[in-house]
Amino acid sequence: VQPLQRVKGTVDLLGEELRQFAHVETLLTQALLAEGYQALRPPLLEYTDLFARGVGEDTDIVGKEMFTFTRGDRQLTLRPEGTAGVVRAYIENGMHRWPKPVKVFYLGPMFRYERPQKGRQRQFHQLGVEVLGTDDPAADAGVMLTAWNLLHTLGVQGVQLHVNNVGTPEDRQRFKADFKALLADDLAVLCDDCRRRYETNPLRMLDCKVPTCEAHYASPKVQHFLANFAWEPASAEPYAQTLAILTALGIPYTQNPKLVRGLDYYTRTVFELTSTDPASGLGAQSTVCGGGRYNNLVETLGGPETPAVGFAFGLERLVTLANLGTLTPPPKVRVLSDDPAVAMRLAGQLREAHPTVVVEADWSTGKALGKQLKQAQQAQASHVVLAQQADVEADSLTLKTMTTGDQVKLTLNELLAQGCI
Ligand code: ATP
Ligand code: MG
Repeated sequence: VQPLQRVKGTVDLLGEELRQFAHVETLLTQALLAEGYQALRPPLLEYTDLFARGVGEDTDIVGKEMFTFTRGDRQLTLRPEGTAGVVRAYIENGMHRWPKPVKVFYLGPMFRYERPQKGRQRQFHQLGVEVLGTDDPAADAGVMLTAWNLLHTLGVQGVQLHVNNVGTPEDRQRFKADFKALLADDLAVLCDDCRRRYETNPLRMLDCKVPTCEAHYASPKVQHFLANFAWEPASAEPYAQTLAILTALGIPYTQNPKLVRGLDYYTRTVFELTSTDPASGLGAQSTVCGGGRYNNLVETLGGPETPAVGFAFGLERLVTLANLGTLTPPPKVRVLSDDPAVAMRLAGQLREAHPTVVVEADWSTGKALGKQLKQAQQAQASHVVLAQQADVEADSLTLKTMTTGDQVKLTLNELLAQGCI
């Protein structure tokens, strides 16, 4: 029979890679809980409409990247990003009545139909943070500080923060009109996607990855326009306050007027964190975190007026970039007996007495001790406890250190005492 293969762009997480992954998840979760964020787990499956309305019809995500299917008369989508689901949950669970701001984080798989490559999968993981119910420019700086600190907790090298103001919706109308006027005679040199975006969503042109388009948007003409566009005080002032707080916090940042992010819901502050660590081999996939303010999304999805700000980390890229040293596995003890019930009972007692130690019972019935020892060695047990029925009756158990071969005889109480293993 031909063995089946996993779906293109997905991975089986296992072994050392999964250990690294889980370790990063644990460190981030602990750090966020310590900052007063609470966990939220929306479903992976949502109505397609949520993303169409929330993320925007003319984004790459909704336009090209969603895994969508029909069940009955409903269209469903495997979530491509986390914010829309969090906002839906916020409204549906009445979280707008909670004390503000509501600070939550989520962690889990996302699905996007993209060309798989290093740092880019079709099922990947994000950890995201959302702060709902505050318009304070300090909150924008606060979440950037959180993201910045998390990257440093993980030992990521060469972290850079890129920030930009994408304005209020009114600002953006004017920006789009001026930008279109600026490029009216240049359409011939741009790609098909950009010509389409020129009509539907011109801001998104700046996010184009086609080299000729990138070069065009890097030209002095476009750069001059971007650098000199006059944002209204409604966005320019709070944005400047956010930057001032970053400066006071000692967080270096680069203002990047080309940074528009791939989702439509952003207002005012947007930001990305990249790592220039060449050892990662991530190349163009060096963006580990993207975020920004989304002051209209809750209303767009049918909730009350609720300004909000957040970000999402790509966990695969984060694990690639993390420098946590080698994880030393905890000691592993195997309990061997001629009676499996004795082994299982003693293993339970040992686990309770030594919470940081891994304790396994040998589950074999009537197997020779030599064979049990060999299997313990293959399973990389650091110690074994020999507990034949007769030993238990005599309260004389043996603790053997596998690396050295040293053996000591101990009573049950001695074996359960702290520091014994
Ligand atoms: P990119 O420009 O690399 O496609 P994006 O702007 O689409 O990124 P976001 O929607 O901002 O990405 O998602 C936040 C983070 O999630 C990204 O910075 C990245 O680290 C990670 N990410 C996004 N898409 C993928 C993917 N297909 N595989 C792995 N990680 C991803
Ligand atoms: Mg993308």
